[in-house]
Amino acid sequence: MDVKLFGVVGGGTMGNGIAHAAAASGLRVLLCEVDQALCDKALRTIDKNLQRGVDKGKMSPDQKAEILGRIRTTTRPEDMAGADIVVEAVVENFEVKKGVFQKLDAVLAPAALLASNTSSISITKLAACTKRPGKVIGMHFMNPVPVMQLVEVIRGIATDDEVLQEVMSLAKAMGKTPVEVNDYPGFVSNRVLMPMINEAIYCLMEGVGTPEAIDTVMKLGMNHPMGPLTLADLIGLDTCLFILNVLHEGLGDPKYRPCPLLVKMVDAGFLGRKTGRGFYKY
Ligand code: NAD
Repeated sequence: MDVKLFGVVGGGTMGNGIAHAAAASGLRVLLCEVDQALCDKALRTIDKNLQRGVDKGKMSPDQKAEILGRIRTTTRPEDMAGADIVVEAVVENFEVKKGVFQKLDAVLAPAALLASNTSSISITKLAACTKRPGKVIGMHFMNPVPVMQLVEVIRGIATDDEVLQEVMSLAKAMGKTPVEVNDYPGFVSNRVLMPMINEAIYCLMEGVGTPEAIDTVMKLGMNHPMGPLTLADLIGLDTCLFILNVLHEGLGDPKYRPCPLLVKMVDAGFLGRKTGRGFYKY
């Protein structure tokens, strides 16, 4: 696929990273946010993250300027009309994503692809909200996007074979390693990760070990770069609970039931790093 314009909707944690990675691979990018202040904030974040590369000697100031020069912003979804593919990275809420997908479906050329960076919402269900279900796919980037190698490419039940191949090639052209998976709750990444985090929380609730003990066992014993409770704090405990509920409801198996301690911490507003308190204090 010849991508002349790569669209990104949502410029938060993931969206600005996706725009950064796409522009760094040479693509022209149009980033859509809800207002100008959020467009500017996304650009500032990309600028700051690129500057880190300059400071470390990984790129020249000219290269940084070139990458930034390939990114434009807008607050009007209609401006996405010329995009060959749009990656949606708005909040993890089906109704919000549905609204974005329907708006994009109405303005994009018939051949354009629509991708979602969702962590857990069904690609099949999102595709069914559009008139182009064959051209809808999941492109699940990992955080932080410019650094992480993986893109989990999720094919919905209606995704065309050639669309899958085009998106696998595009991810490779962006310097990533795509892995194809099918559309089931949690895909592969969160289907495997979240039960491990949940089990670590059960270990804590039952007094099997302290947070430090649980994390150290997994770090030194299993060579994980960080322990599951530290990782849960980084992801956000509300996000972990949301995804566990998707697994529990979507697969109907009690093995995915969220640990009561996780529910209690979310009720208390102890959401991890972002609130200064989770399994650890920050
Ligand atoms: P975020 O809250 O940081 O950013 C979402 C952004 O979307 C906000 O800036 C918001 O203003 C914008 N937005 C909302 N509605 C919009 C609209 N109609 N048009 C344009 N912009 C709109 O969220 P995030 O962490 O970047 O997550 C985005 C998506 O990526 C979610 O689906 C999430 O599940 C997924 N994801 C997140 C992570 C992570 O570690 N944060 C990892 C993988 C996937």
